[in-house]
This record gives sequence, structure tokens and C-alpha cells, in this order.
Amino acid sequence: MIEITKKSIEKAINKARQTKPFVKILEFRRYSVTNKTTGATYEVKFSKLGNKKLAECNCKATVVCYHIGASIGAHIVLAEQMQTATA
Ligand SMILES: [Zn+2]
Repeated sequence: MIEITKKSIEKAINKARQTKPFVKILEFRRYSVTNKTTGATYEVKFSKLGNKKLAECNCKATVVCYHIGASIGAHIVLAEQMQTATA
């Protein structure tokens, strides 16, 4: 698990905007991200530890990669919907 910081996620989102991978929701907090050019698919998971936001991707990167950047948009929308639903 890698901690998501504002700086690291901004970089990842920018890279995702250039790469434009295909994001599929597997379940809440689990996403599959496919690179449309290479067809490579990776799985991204999000979790929370106190106030820390954590993410994990099964690609080779050891930093907040663009797979995480690509799926966090969908994750934020979904998390907000969940909160509204339970409130
Ligand atoms: Zn990745």
C-alpha cells in the first residue's frame, strides 16, 4: 500500500489524462485499469487508515502510478454516493 498525497496524486492524474486508460469498477474500492494501447490491465485498490488514504496497484510501479490516478476520479464519485446513501 502506498499513501496518497496531494502532490503524488496530482502527478498521477496528469499522467492518466495523457494516457487515457479505460477504468472499470470491479466493486467499491476496487478498479481495473486497462491501457488502451498495450492492452495491459492492472488492478487498483483503495483503503483508508485513519486519515491516511492508501492505494495499491499490481503494476511494477512503487509510486502512485497513473492507474491509481485514473481510477481515483471514479472512486471519489462512488465514495460520495456511498456517503450520501448511508447518511
Ligand atoms: Zn499501476
